Amino acid sequence: MKHSICENIKQISAEIKNTQLVVVSKYRSLKELQEVYDCGNRDFGENRVQELIEKYEKMPKDIKWHAIGHLQTNKVKYIASFVHLVHAVDSLKLLRKLNQEAEKNNRVIDFLFQLHVAQEESKYGIPPVQFNSLLENKEILEFKNVRCRGIMGMATNTDNVSVVRNEFKELYSIYTEHQQIQHWDILSMGMSGDYKIAIEEGSTTIRVGSKIFNVD
Ligand SMILES: *Cc1c(COP(=O)(O)O)cnc(C)c1O
Repeated sequence: MKHSICENIKQISAEIKNTQLVVVSKYRSLKELQEVYDCGNRDFGENRVQELIEKYEKMPKDIKWHAIGHLQTNKVKYIASFVHLVHAVDSLKLLRKLNQEAEKNNRVIDFLFQLHVAQEESKYGIPPVQFNSLLENKEILEFKNVRCRGIMGMATNTDNVSVVRNEFKELYSIYTEHQQIQHWDILSMGMSGDYKIAIEEGSTTIRVGSKIFNVD
């Protein structure tokens, strides 16, 4: 039996206790988003800029919009005035643009670096072996209008639980390696199929869509 969107949110929220839930509302209608909002959730995740802007314009203004997917440099300007957290920074070029557009809007934009730990080729993200040198890049240290809050990653889409768990362990280990020095507080990992494992492995923020909207 299918449960309502709000019942799904309440059930997941009870399971995950203090972990932050970002409801991934991509492809969902405004009516469905309103149901999420009326249930009390204010954190929404979208992965396409066009859709994000349209929904931002039509939905209540106290929503925190998370840009969770790959972000093209030339689209940053459309979301820079309002985006709450950019989850998927995977290049210096993108970060530079984010800093520029944040400055134009007189604000500081919070972001996460996206790390690539999954086995799939197609996924975006920084290979862990390149991450330390990126963090030490002098240019990044001078950006005044962006603030790194931590990292985000996705596990391989597989039923093999130990593969998924090991990838989350790798993300957690990268996170804790830098957490103190960098003052990080967000480790964004876990989606509909694997958020329970992600939380066991130290996730602070999960991004869940299909399980809430009953699409599998
Ligand atoms: C779609 C998406 C999610 C949510 O996936 P579900 O399996 O629907 O929960 C999480 N993170 C990113 C980056 C996504 O694109």
